[in-house]
Amino acid sequence: MLGSMNKHILLIEDERSIADTIFYALETENFSAEWKTLGQDGLDYLKSHTVDLIILDVGLPDMNGFDVCKNIRTFSDIPIIFLTARKDEIDRVVGFEIGADDYVVKPFSPRELVARIKVIFKRLQTTPTNSSGVFQVDDLKGRIVYENTLMDLTRYEYRLLKLLLSQPERIFSRAQLMEQVWDAPEASMDRTVDAHIKMLRGKLRNIDADADLIKTHRGMGYSIEV
Ligand code: CA
Repeated sequence: MLGSMNKHILLIEDERSIADTIFYALETENFSAEWKTLGQDGLDYLKSHTVDLIILDVGLPDMNGFDVCKNIRTFSDIPIIFLTARKDEIDRVVGFEIGADDYVVKPFSPRELVARIKVIFKRLQTTPTNSSGVFQVDDLKGRIVYENTLMDLTRYEYRLLKLLLSQPERIFSRAQLMEQVWDAPEASMDRTVDAHIKMLRGKLRNIDADADLIKTHRGMGYSIEV
């Protein structure tokens, strides 16, 4: 309970009855929350406030929730849970193209939503790389510290390194990396992934010249060793 007390959640949802229900559930769990009915209001709020998680409705009056999410992803990797109503919306959320962390389908129980929020916060706390000592991934601030040095990473480099670190020694194919890291698949998929891997290797070597952490597995993909 203590952990949830400090968490601040932004709810972007235009239906008052749904917002009320969610608000009540969040308060019961000692989360603090802010409610916005428009996508643009939510974006404005994010630029001047620290938020730990966003609950985002897909169908908003002023803009599509997917566009709100894409906009947020240009400056933050903050966890986002979608509220979806229609089958085609669900397909898009599940398809990984949006960059959401989770979703619930309307009508949903507030209890389920809160459970999913807690899972995300728990996952952030227990990022396995935190225990390695070499890397520290700070998901909320969107940054990675390597050997006590803050890495200067682009958004995709950050997401790429975070994904590799989420499962050390697992070999990710280029297609898997592209699907999970990039917002939209690019035509020159392999070249894009390779170029970012090369940049990451360079940045890791700048911090530790002997580091050769990212391995190439011919015909299979990449993995990281920590
Ligand atoms: Ca709506």
